[in-house]
Amino acid sequence: MTELAVNGGDPTVTIDQLERWERPVDRHIEAVTNLIDAGELSGAGAGLPQSIEEDFAEYTGADYCLSIDHGSTALASAYYAVGVGPGDEIITPAAGYLGAYAGALHMGARPVFAEVDPDTLLVDPTAVEGHITDRTAAINLIHKQGRVCDMDAFLELRNRYDIPIVQDCAHAHGSEWRGEHVGSLPDIACFSLQGVSPNGKPIAAGEGGFVTTNDREYYERQLSYCHLHRRGITDELTMSPYDRLDRQVLGRKWRAHPLALAIAAIELESLPDRVAGRLAYRDALFEALEPVAGLRPVTPYEHSDTDGMYGGLRVVYDQSALDGLSVERFVEAVRAEGVPMSGPSIGHLEHRRSITTEGYDLWGKGRGPLGDAWCGLPPFEGYEPGEFPITEELDDRVLRIDSFIDPAPGAIEQIVGAIEQVADAAAEMRRR
Ligand SMILES: *Cc1c(COP(=O)(O)O)cnc(C)c1O
Repeated sequence: MTELAVNGGDPTVTIDQLERWERPVDRHIEAVTNLIDAGELSGAGAGLPQSIEEDFAEYTGADYCLSIDHGSTALASAYYAVGVGPGDEIITPAAGYLGAYAGALHMGARPVFAEVDPDTLLVDPTAVEGHITDRTAAINLIHKQGRVCDMDAFLELRNRYDIPIVQDCAHAHGSEWRGEHVGSLPDIACFSLQGVSPNGKPIAAGEGGFVTTNDREYYERQLSYCHLHRRGITDELTMSPYDRLDRQVLGRKWRAHPLALAIAAIELESLPDRVAGRLAYRDALFEALEPVAGLRPVTPYEHSDTDGMYGGLRVVYDQSALDGLSVERFVEAVRAEGVPMSGPSIGHLEHRRSITTEGYDLWGKGRGPLGDAWCGLPPFEGYEPGEFPITEELDDRVLRIDSFIDPAPGAIEQIVGAIEQVADAAAEMRRR
């Protein structure tokens, strides 16, 4: 047997650049330069900021799209739109993201965490239903890495309990459920444009966001909440009471930068190809991994397909299948072989933050949703370790492996060969 790299052997992965896809830098420069030349550096509701809203609405099939300055503010404006306010609760995944619910928190709503489905690592509809109370004002879903949550179950809950869904689509710009784009599903879909391709959000433009909805009132509420001075805004506000507002609406301005939107427009063009590339890679990698003991590839629900669009792909480690080799030693050994893998981690554990274990006096003087009884909320009790056993157990077993759009020839063979080599040596490594 060849010596493992972790023991001083040569690494199995010898390809320098595993990803061959390159972002079209020249086109980005040209698009940005055009706006600088034209002096179009500010504004919304006209020109390029308006045309990309139309293009993204068309791409998703949603009736309305608004550009916004970040994914986090997209989410915050969505909570406002669906009517979340002080003393409400919103349900959000325990293996989630603070930015996914911070907008609701800062409006005075309390986050209530829910378990994941161990197969998809997405928030579990049954667990969510168990947390619904008469204070629940929204259900927040995160389509992690582009895998879509169980929308059949969540839409059924939404309709039965009359609770709106705020979708965090920060990883899901190309994702569909039963062939329908997530942006066209209820109630509001929130997209981030954070980072730079190929490793940023699926449409990466530095900073920025989009929200899409089919609901005219939600659209007008978002306009009124944070689109001060948008061109033509008073004409767009047609419903009462928003039609009484002037062009400074409610005073808040969370508008996207036109230079970012110019880059986003170019990224949108290549999105379908990048989705297809990553899916082909996922399928080939997972097929090649099938015979390898100890790793379970995480796949989406049947009616969802897209995966690995942000933050790589996921596999779940099974120590017992590899002679008891610890996950840490396994990861160390495959990394030494040059495999782009990391973990274990299921992501952020929201119920293990100091603010959610100890509470937090958000606005001082005992006011806020994470402190004493306030605004109809009972005192915040603080989460304990062990409250989400599925999520916490998986946190010690979920591994991330990079996803590629256009992998170098031989990349999969080298990556899987390296993993196989470590798996084969597991018993030997345990003895050392
Ligand atoms: C990136 C991200 C956001 C927030 O987007 P920003 O544009 O960075 O504000 C929200 N939710 C998830 C899951 C994200 O990954």
